[in-house]
Amino acid sequence: MPSKTLPTLLAIDDDPITRMMLEKVLVRAGYRVVTASGGTEGLLRCDETHPDLILLDVMMPDLDGFQTCQLLRKKSSAEHIPIIMLTGLEDAESIEQAFHAGATDFVTKPINWGLLSQRVKFALRAYEMEDGLRKAQSQLAYAQRLAQLGYWEWNPENDMVSGSQEMFALFGHEQTVPMSKTAFLRFLTQSSALVLEETLAKLENDLNTLSLVVHVDKEARYAVLNILGEVTRNEQGILVGLSGSVQDITRISEAEATISRLNLHDRLTDLPNRNFFMEMLTQALQKRANSKDPNAKLAVLTLDIDRFKLFNQSLGIHGGDTLLKALAVRLTQITREGDAVARLGSDEFVVLIDMHLDDKIEAIASRYHSNLVKSFNINDTEVFITTSLGIALAPLDSDQAEPLLAFANTAKTRAKSAGGNQYQFYTASMNQQAAKRLKLEHDLRRAVELGQMRVYYQPKIASSNLALIGAEALVRWQHPEWGLVPPDAFIPVAEETGMILEIGQWVLNEACRQAAIWRTHIPDFHIGVNLSARQFLQDDLLTQVEYALTSNRLPAAALDLEITESLAMADAQRNIEILRQLKALGIHLSIDDFGTGYSSLSYLQAFPVNTIKIDRSFIMRIGTPEGGKADEGIASAIIAMAHSLDMSLVAEGIENEAQAAFLTQQGCEVFQGFYFGRPVPSDSFEKQYPKLTEA
Ligand code: C2E
Ligand code: MG
Ligand code: MG
Repeated sequence: MPSKTLPTLLAIDDDPITRMMLEKVLVRAGYRVVTASGGTEGLLRCDETHPDLILLDVMMPDLDGFQTCQLLRKKSSAEHIPIIMLTGLEDAESIEQAFHAGATDFVTKPINWGLLSQRVKFALRAYEMEDGLRKAQSQLAYAQRLAQLGYWEWNPENDMVSGSQEMFALFGHEQTVPMSKTAFLRFLTQSSALVLEETLAKLENDLNTLSLVVHVDKEARYAVLNILGEVTRNEQGILVGLSGSVQDITRISEAEATISRLNLHDRLTDLPNRNFFMEMLTQALQKRANSKDPNAKLAVLTLDIDRFKLFNQSLGIHGGDTLLKALAVRLTQITREGDAVARLGSDEFVVLIDMHLDDKIEAIASRYHSNLVKSFNINDTEVFITTSLGIALAPLDSDQAEPLLAFANTAKTRAKSAGGNQYQFYTASMNQQAAKRLKLEHDLRRAVELGQMRVYYQPKIASSNLALIGAEALVRWQHPEWGLVPPDAFIPVAEETGMILEIGQWVLNEACRQAAIWRTHIPDFHIGVNLSARQFLQDDLLTQVEYALTSNRLPAAALDLEITESLAMADAQRNIEILRQLKALGIHLSIDDFGTGYSSLSYLQAFPVNTIKIDRSFIMRIGTPEGGKADEGIASAIIAMAHSLDMSLVAEGIENEAQAAFLTQQGCEVFQGFYFGRPVPSDSFEKQYPKLTEA
């Protein structure tokens, strides 16, 4: 294609002189000029030459200019190009008629030759711009049609929706006329309309963009549409307009559905995956419901490997995968025809069992359990695993897929927390427990922040003169619905979730604050605070303790930290180091619940502790016929040995005078128990011991 050819002008005039003049002037101005002596010839020349502009005389013998103009406009080659009429009469009527016939402009005769080429130049330039715009618009419309993309606009003032033709077509509407939002929403399915309306409502206030997938489901049209939009607000932030695009994503979403339908198998084991299993389960439940057989039953059995993480660590990830594959093979072998095994994820598997009339579910569960105990050969090593299994039954527990699986998992969790290596059947109470535990965990997270924790104080009494020498701080949780929750009910959960760190720090501070006040009245008053395992092992324990002491101006010697025997023994070497550091601060250390762990007293020698608290279980039966003598023996032995190691003794859980008398006789220094006082809030504690508030 030549880079830039000269613009071609077609001059149509019956007067040869005018034709000649036009040609001469315009060629000189840089145009290629083609001439025609009348309308009919002009139409012909137009077809041959595809002119860029036409000059057209009005008065001609065969076809007049108006008629010719109208005919030219019907040709695709001349539909849009400028047509300038040469009119002899400068009257409004013929000018009007010229425009009506489709002319772009007019020049009056006699022609002002100097101006003519200017007029032509401007007409051509205007045409060029207009043509560019027209092309861009048609390209855009074409692209949008290809992409099935439409443009829309919503005016909140009059509540009208308008937009491109493609947009209306996407919603299944033939006409491109603005309509009210309510009318517009009727194109959508009910649920889509609802969601869209809710989203629009949100846009009034906070949201600024819109991104939604909606469905059109009418006889004439089914489509999945993706709507995007952006809000326009005025200076006051008030919504004044909303506009955006809409695109047909029906094919994409159908493709996605197909892919996920095909994607029904687990890659590692090639067993059905969770989705596939849920589909099978749903179908089996449906079939059961439809069958008239009242004995038709299904069982869902979930299982996983106890301490699978450990196997993964010791076998390596690859070995772990091999174990899972071997387990999948084993499960497939022991699963009956007509039943199905699937892998839910990680080391979790599930079996769908269609119960036969004479089936005993206990026997089936036991068969699975015992077959999985047999060793696996993993990379030439014999590996033994144990598994936990949970079973839920349809229709007994539920006749719906999701709850059945959830119930089987609840039972499995129960099997696991009962020590693993066993199967459990779901019972309704398990779920209540699980729900309660979940709520407890949830509520516990904000308990400190909401000020729901309380410290209760239980007196410690000197055996020599029965005087008050201190107290043990015991935490309680004032729950808004459950009332006062004892520590045994939430400390283990707090340990597991890590909340104990926050709770423990709060108790420590509160107890130190209170003790500092009471010390002004009883100078050697000391306060016992319990430390849990997780607290004990946290990195900044020392800093926290120091902070609690200094910020409350409590001398270190007034604080007695209690750690349980089993905790102290868990990692003796490391713990001794921590205890030494605490001791170096000048704090008093006690071993709590002594006698319940495995340690011998002599082992404790290495521990830098000051005091042993004999566990309540040994004190309980002192002075009673059953076991009293034996426990008395143990208690007196503990006391004697502790003394030989230079440790002092506290007896916990003293409930009567006989126990106190026996322990005094054995030389136990400190008493704690309901006989002397129960744990109570600080104000009640002060009422019991007025000395604590006396001036
Ligand atoms: P513990 O440290 O051995 O506390 C003694 C427990 O025995 C207290 O139970 C107390 O109320 C109870 N007790 C005291 N005298 C008697 C008695 O004569 N008869 C009977 N039947 N019971 C008596 P509580 O307050 O329920 O605390 C239970 C455990 O919770 C505590 O055992 C301690 O291990 C833990 N705990 C309490 N407060 C905290 C805390 O702030 N932090 C941590 N980490 N653990 C705490
Ligand atoms: Mg304690
Ligand atoms: Mg104790």
